[in-house]
Amino acid sequence: TRQRRGGRGEEEEEETQGKESTTSRGYLEDEHAASHAEIAFFNTILPKCESSLRYNITWYVSSSPCVTCADRISETLRKNKNLRLTIMVGRLFMWEEPEMQAALKKMKSAGCKLRIMKPQDFEYVWQNFVEQEEGEEAKAFVPWEDIQENFQYYEEKLAEILQ
Ligand SMILES: [Zn+2]
Repeated sequence: TRQRRGGRGEEEEEETQGKESTTSRGYLEDEHAASHAEIAFFNTILPKCESSLRYNITWYVSSSPCVTCADRISETLRKNKNLRLTIMVGRLFMWEEPEMQAALKKMKSAGCKLRIMKPQDFEYVWQNFVEQEEGEEAKAFVPWEDIQENFQYYEEKLAEILQ
């Protein structure tokens, strides 16, 4: 499944570990929804997870969750020990707010891995989730000018918050 270019979406990979390990990939689009992309995960994906299976879930999102979503993520991970969640983000949302910083720390102690996307991660998302124009040849990923600086900036801020 591929995402239309331009929409703020939430890309997701799910690896189920059991006797056999399977990987499913998909995306949730919040372009037309009033709610946050995270909510779509809680409403559509989470109810399908079986408590007897282990899930390694990776989200690729444009920005880190808001306080409300972050708290819901922490609560969900505490209740569902079979879920492992990694969230790859392009930027940190409202990271200067003490309330937001507290929510990110809570997410970390609940076991959530929060990571800033490197240029290679953006390229991975481009190649695996972003739909190319129909009838056109796949375009190569073109990193924008400050992609590396952006990564380093947020990586530093995140380390400061979570230290
Ligand atoms: Zn939210």
